[in-house]
Amino acid sequence: MTPPDPDSTVAGNNSDWQDMLFTQAPPTLGNQFDDDPLLGSWLSRHLPGYVATPLREELRELGGFAGGELYRLQLADRLNEPVLTHWNAWGERIDEIVVTRLWLEAEKLAVKHGLVATGYDRSLGRYARLAQFLKVYLFHPSSDWYACPLGMTDGAARSLLISGSAEQQARAVPRLTSRDVATFWTSGQWMTETTGGSDVGRCETRAVRDGAGWRLYGRKWFTSAVTSQMALALARPEGNPRGGDGLAMFYVEVRDAGGKLNRLRVDRLKDKLGTRKVPTAEMVLDGARAELVGAPLNGVCAMEPMLAVTRMWNSVCAVAFMRRGLALARSYARRRQAFGQPLERLPLHADTLAGLEAETWGAFLVAFLLVELNGRHAAGESDAQQRALLRLLTPLVTLVTAKQAVSVVAEVIESFGGAGYVEDTGLPQLLRDTHVLTIWEGTTNVLALDALLRTDLHAGLAPLLGRASACRRNAKAPRLVAAAQQAVGAIERAVLTLESMHDDTVLQAGARRIALTLARALQLTLLCEHAQWMLDNGGDRRGYAAALRFARQPVDLMTEVDPEADRLLLG
Ligand SMILES: Cc1cc2nc3c(=O)[nH]c(=O)nc-3n(C[C@H](O)[C@H](O)[C@H](O)COP(=O)(O)OP(=O)(O)OC[C@H]3O[C@@H](n4cnc5c(N)ncnc54)[C@H](O)[C@@H]3O)c2cc1C
Repeated sequence: MTPPDPDSTVAGNNSDWQDMLFTQAPPTLGNQFDDDPLLGSWLSRHLPGYVATPLREELRELGGFAGGELYRLQLADRLNEPVLTHWNAWGERIDEIVVTRLWLEAEKLAVKHGLVATGYDRSLGRYARLAQFLKVYLFHPSSDWYACPLGMTDGAARSLLISGSAEQQARAVPRLTSRDVATFWTSGQWMTETTGGSDVGRCETRAVRDGAGWRLYGRKWFTSAVTSQMALALARPEGNPRGGDGLAMFYVEVRDAGGKLNRLRVDRLKDKLGTRKVPTAEMVLDGARAELVGAPLNGVCAMEPMLAVTRMWNSVCAVAFMRRGLALARSYARRRQAFGQPLERLPLHADTLAGLEAETWGAFLVAFLLVELNGRHAAGESDAQQRALLRLLTPLVTLVTAKQAVSVVAEVIESFGGAGYVEDTGLPQLLRDTHVLTIWEGTTNVLALDALLRTDLHAGLAPLLGRASACRRNAKAPRLVAAAQQAVGAIERAVLTLESMHDDTVLQAGARRIALTLARALQLTLLCEHAQWMLDNGGDRRGYAAALRFARQPVDLMTEVDPEADRLLLG
């Protein structure tokens, strides 16, 4: 519409045209618990009444916050970022970091709802992790990645319970799992150095023993949430061999009782693509006082329980971002008209969103299978098969959900057209914040190699196939059986390929595709099983639609591998 010439004497009231301009209604979020049919059905299926009934009320409260007050605050707080001040007015080095308003609120909410503590609630037995991560799933997308310090805190608590001394446990674990903001601590994990995050065995930080204990010297290159009160760090005790085996794990408190930094400096905060609310620092340890956790060797192995926990956080946060993106995209598709119809009635737009929905359902089911296995393991209720499956699924689920999240959220941005590209919709931040999922708990390649090169993890292949086959048996509707059979076939082929690969170069080059095939095929079988359960318990056909839709998307990603041709192509 062309606005009339303001000087024209012909036009009547010159401001009328502005009132006639079309204004698009923005997407809205409802209660994120009530609006999620998969979450509701999954809860009814997997949790016994004594856990589910009180939890449902808490989840509804969190879902209301996440879709309401917290989401509004997130949009209002969009431009704020953490600020690092190196020196105070009197010339003292303080390295103080002020976090954003939303982070302060998120901390209170997280502690009140026990986002870490619930995982350690013994009264919940093997359901503790499930109860915890259902809360995380709702809380995370409106928290500007406050889940990052929470995940590391959870990982540190678990590590200390496994490897820490009685004194370390007594001092740190009650704080890390506190439900009181006044006593709550978060923890960092200081591993990555300039020499490498994947190849962490090249770590250069030295641990030197003096009369009073250990001191650490070195530079940590990515230390997220450096506002934490403590951290678990990797360093090499003097005299230890090179490589990962020569590293040890250390417990470090960031400040002393008087609030002074423990001989460490925060050089700068990273200027990052996303996760900009997370203060990720470059840091120098200049004799920081530290305590050994466990033995003075094999620190990388000692970090495993921590990684198992943080990778579970990565997986659930990935699904949570997918769900958030879709909640916004679906709301917009109801409100935005094109060619005389709401977008949701346009067949191709509906088809696009349905594909994303199916991906999100598959990701949810596999992520919560991982959580369930972790919960059983922590409660001492898992058998050897389940533990082997847990170890294999930890990298597999992390890598597949992260990849799905990046692709789903990218498509969500496109589903908004130009609006998805505009910063103050909050949508670009969602995309940027999602991208980190494929990096910070290990990149896709590194996770794939972790899963497939380590022969000790191969013990998980048979239970994986067993779980998928059980899903196929549980499916009854003919099309679900056929889809599940297709998935089981893909898993069998992947296992066969893996077992017949004797050339390490070929195995490495093909690892990502095998890993993704195993994970996506498992997702499809879980979808078929859950779809059948939904049909049998109330007749809801949405699970059925999700399973069949997922079956039409790429599941078996294996192709012939030709490292020679790769080298040729790359010159
Ligand atoms: C926002 C953010 C926060 C972070 N916070 C923390 C933190 O709190 N604590 C911490 O310790 N670290 C943290 N990290 C670091 C993160 O864990 C590392 O960046 C990650 O592990 C990758 O390591 P790198 O950066 O050294 O990449 P590299 O290891 O150099 O990897 C570069 C590329 O090479 C590929 N590659 C590497 N090895 C192989 C292989 N064998 N085969 C095939 N491909 C391979 C990788 O997939 C990647 O694509 C953070 C990173 C980010 C982005």
